[in-house]
Amino acid sequence: MVTEPSDTDYDPEAHAGAVLTIDLDAVVANWRLVAGKLARGACAAVVKADGYGLGADKVAPALAAAGCRHFFVASLEEGVALRRVLPEAALYVLHGPMPGSDTVFAAHRLVPVLNDLGQIEAWQRLAATWPEPLPTVIHLDTGMSRLGLSPGEVDRLAAEPERLAGLSLAYVMSHLVSAEEQDNPLNRQQLGLFNDLRARLPAADASLANGSGVFLGPDFHFDLARPGAVLYGVAPVAGAPNPMRQVVRLQGRIIQVRDVDSPQTVGYGASHSFTGPTTVATVALGYADGYLRHLSNRGSCFVDGVRVPVIGRVSMDLITLDVTKAPADRLFPGALVEVLGDSYTVDDAAADADTIGYEILTSLGPRYHRRYVGG
Ligand SMILES: *Cc1c(COP(=O)(O)O)cnc(C)c1O
Repeated sequence: MVTEPSDTDYDPEAHAGAVLTIDLDAVVANWRLVAGKLARGACAAVVKADGYGLGADKVAPALAAAGCRHFFVASLEEGVALRRVLPEAALYVLHGPMPGSDTVFAAHRLVPVLNDLGQIEAWQRLAATWPEPLPTVIHLDTGMSRLGLSPGEVDRLAAEPERLAGLSLAYVMSHLVSAEEQDNPLNRQQLGLFNDLRARLPAADASLANGSGVFLGPDFHFDLARPGAVLYGVAPVAGAPNPMRQVVRLQGRIIQVRDVDSPQTVGYGASHSFTGPTTVATVALGYADGYLRHLSNRGSCFVDGVRVPVIGRVSMDLITLDVTKAPADRLFPGALVEVLGDSYTVDDAAADADTIGYEILTSLGPRYHRRYVGG
């Protein structure tokens, strides 16, 4: 006779290949730290890309409970999903409306960031039929050359103020190119152009700073700050100590421990050769989980505070670690090693992978068992 397995047979905490712990109290503490630096104005939270990979449906309510009233997402889809979670907050959509989607924005009370005259025109056409003025953000390009009105478009808008009829201009905004580099002259150049451009338009509250921009000082604060990555633990200022709390802790599970010696090699491509007796732990995560393949022979994990380097190539579902120096009693099938956390931060992993903490966070994969603490 065959017994049906029951759901209780599988316990992800005990069995998942890796456990991702997300500390909502740390997110809130990071938001408070940023909000506390503002000379004036409100502090929003950017929760695009599912809260930088950490779960917007968890992060945003925790921040709302802490007093955050303004949230930015990238797309309409993200806005509609977040509206279900946050019925009251002001929700802004950075991409603005695609042609034909304006009524969906209004129906879900999403505030579009309008990035060109075409988006303004379509939104204004809807506003003409709407019972009350439609809240609107207008994005001015000051150097990113990606989205936002060019100086020429700003002048056309200024010359034809009827283009804004029926719109309630909540903010004019722009976005900094290199805010994490405090000495980069682009920061002041963009600030100057932003002030010049917004002076040509009807008076409105302003928003310029991303998370790093807040750390550039009060001239950059205006009426609304838009921090993202710093809330999730990424350092705001390049080359300076990180005042933010780490939010993620990623622990990978050891599947096997083995003793090897020269002339053996490890992994695809035999990219690491052993030169003497070595203990290798094989851990159950890989590039399919967003553990970037560029960390092959470069990344590190930690066991009980001891650094254990990644040796050989990162494969799809596995990494191999040189655990020779780690305490032997912590090395057994089922034991967890620290992959990200206070010992090896998101920024540490980013540096070893030649990328930025943002990409480490947004790559955190769906196979990890997610545990939320705090909030
Ligand atoms: C992503 C984004 C932010 C947040 O930037 P961080 O560097 O994560 O603080 C702010 N404003 C705009 C327009 C963005 O696209």
